[in-house]
Amino acid sequence: MYATPSLSTDMSAATHTAGRKVLIGLIGAGIQKSLSPAMHEQEAREHGLRLHYQLIDLDRTEGAGAQDLPTLLHAARVMGYAGCNVTYPCKQAVLPLLDELSDEARAMGAVNTVVIRDGRLIGHNTDGSGWARGFTRALPGADLSRVVLLGAGGAGAAIAHAALRLGVGELRIADPDPARLAQLVADVNALYGARAVAVSDLGLAMADATGLIHATPTGMDKLPGLPLDEALLRADLWVSEVVYFPLDTALLKAARAKGCRVSDGGGMAVGQAVGAFELFTGLVPDATRMEAHFRALVTAAKP
Ligand code: NAD
Repeated sequence: MYATPSLSTDMSAATHTAGRKVLIGLIGAGIQKSLSPAMHEQEAREHGLRLHYQLIDLDRTEGAGAQDLPTLLHAARVMGYAGCNVTYPCKQAVLPLLDELSDEARAMGAVNTVVIRDGRLIGHNTDGSGWARGFTRALPGADLSRVVLLGAGGAGAAIAHAALRLGVGELRIADPDPARLAQLVADVNALYGARAVAVSDLGLAMADATGLIHATPTGMDKLPGLPLDEALLRADLWVSEVVYFPLDTALLKAARAKGCRVSDGGGMAVGQAVGAFELFTGLVPDATRMEAHFRALVTAAKP
């Protein structure tokens, strides 16, 4: 059983002051294009903090994988790291290695941020709250009555929790993987009341929906296209996208052409980094500045 982090073991003790050097890492596979090092290091500089963000890419060493997490986290502790972000394939595998777990991470059963404080490993999840942060900034006042969520994978699950916490009335989740879909619906309904349903007819689910959240890989540079029939989009629908390579996906272009209010995948990417930066350093980052930097980085990274 994990303890829930208290203020004394978490935020208040974490504040790093100017002049100190802060070490952070990202543990995952295939992370060479991550924008996290640039985002965190630049924001730290703005606070007068020396921060190094190290990519710990499991793909770079033959045979390395999630089974190496105990060694890597032990090493991070010994080397004085303030913490590590974790991503695929480590978000669940890290759970048994932690001393404490935030309520949000416990609810999601996944961790993307491990804070190391006084030798203890404290797991958090800033993916869902990051999405919510980006969403509410981009689409204030959006009608949350009936929302369709495409995708019940890692991003979709984090967003499902966050969307229900945010007050979505009915969350209609669609995914071609029936087991994954049923599991997510059962998980969130157990926590937030029976407000999520599995979609069997997407046309019907979209007909009176107030919003659409897209959380599948369709639309990425390497997987171009639309995740649903364009005819299902209407002007009175808002659309929230998670894909951010590219920022302007085919879905967003189609939705804008129909007159929909839209938010792109940058909001979640920045939102999760904003949350992690605060947890690692105890400093409140400037979300607007981080977002501007992120957008410049994505634009510069264009093929
Ligand atoms: P994943 O593989 O874990 O899950 C994707 C899910 O989408 C799968 O369950 C799959 O069955 C489902 N799916 C595929 N096509 C579908 C369709 N047409 N309709 C409904 N469901 C469909 O992937 P993931 O980790 O959840 O990532 C999904 C996307 O989100 C990726 O493009 C990733 O880059 C992006 N992402 C963005 C952020 C961000 O910060 N903006 C964060 C995490 C992930």
